[in-house]
Amino acid sequence: MAEKRKVCVLGATGVGKTSLVARFARSIFSESYLTTIGVTIETRRVRCDDRELDLLLWDLSGEDEFQDVQISYVRGAAGLLLVIDGTRRFTVETGLRLHAAARATAGELPSVVALNKADLTAAWEIDEAAEARLRRAGLLVTRTSAKTGAGVEGAFSALARAMLGSDAPLWRG
Ligand code: GDP
Ligand code: MG
Repeated sequence: MAEKRKVCVLGATGVGKTSLVARFARSIFSESYLTTIGVTIETRRVRCDDRELDLLLWDLSGEDEFQDVQISYVRGAAGLLLVIDGTRRFTVETGLRLHAAARATAGELPSVVALNKADLTAAWEIDEAAEARLRRAGLLVTRTSAKTGAGVEGAFSALARAMLGSDAPLWRG
């Protein structure tokens, strides 16, 4: 049996949380914008060094995305994937606020940022100063495109690696 780890995917509405999870768990991408209310959980097994991990990917959706992270959602998480839309600068602020709320509840969890929509280079709004700010907040910054798949494996692997190296909780749910 592979070990299980719960990962919460955080970020403003429309940054690509659901798309990244779908790309990573099911290798699909859709242009259609479906906002569902609630939490969707997808799983994927990853190999990290000599260990296998089942990642339980919790994707929060709907109105709550803009509110502070609900305690019940981040409880038991071993890692956080913070998604920022590289074409909308304000999603850095939203992301950092959500991340702070998650940490206040769940503690100092390994956290990786996905600067998503990296395929849309002409509309890119994130500069080096914004990236430096994210790193100062203790975040490992990666670039992803759920559309092309670029960087997606790398972002989740980096998080898996960070979780294995930490004493964050094992999921026993
Ligand atoms: P969520 O609200 O954070 O779950 O965002 P969604 O996954 O629903 O994505 C919002 C919109 O952005 C959808 O129309 C997606 O097709 C689009 N989208 C998500 N990721 C990417 C990406 O990497 N590149 C591009 N071009 N569009 C994306
Ligand atoms: Mg969504």
